[in-house]
Amino acid sequence: MVYPEPIERLIESLSKLPGIGRKTATRLTFFLLNAKEGYVSELSRNLLDIKEKIRLCSICFNITDLDPCMICRDPKREGHILCVVEEPSHMMVIESSNPGRYRYHILHGVINPIEGIGPEEIKIEKLKERVIQEGIKELIIATNPNMEGNTTAHYIGEILKPCNVKITRIASGIPVGGDLVYLDPLTIKSSIDNRRDM
Ligand SMILES: [Zn+2]
Repeated sequence: MVYPEPIERLIESLSKLPGIGRKTATRLTFFLLNAKEGYVSELSRNLLDIKEKIRLCSICFNITDLDPCMICRDPKREGHILCVVEEPSHMMVIESSNPGRYRYHILHGVINPIEGIGPEEIKIEKLKERVIQEGIKELIIATNPNMEGNTTAHYIGEILKPCNVKITRIASGIPVGGDLVYLDPLTIKSSIDNRRDM
């Protein structure tokens, strides 16, 4: 059975969303069909707004509706340290655990030769410019502790060697509240390699 065309079109659009199959898309479409007019207008306005009003901060490449973003405008943050992350969502996670402390640089990806993503595809050159222009003294590289994240961290370390900036990497190892018995050998090895004085 085929629904009237406007309904089919909405089902088709919604089923392109991640994790939404045709069945869920159909359910959502009928929910919207029966929803109040005000809610549907608000939803469609919000959808358009994220495309029209959200852009990247020209300094840190965070997603923002103001340029520079609120974090780059905040004078109380550490001036000479930048926390380097892969994606805006990673920045949000670090920000929620260290509110108001750091400024960031969002790479929008990691180096991944298998997928054809080289250093020029992500915001590494801009990072170098910032380090020089803003007199950055330390970079905390907070890319994921996997192969691509480590490759990216290593590459940043290499190209910024002449800039006389301290480069640190987030530690990887045993999670807070974790139990050694349940951890994989790589995590255990990493936590031993990254051990510190107490
Ligand atoms: Zn910013």
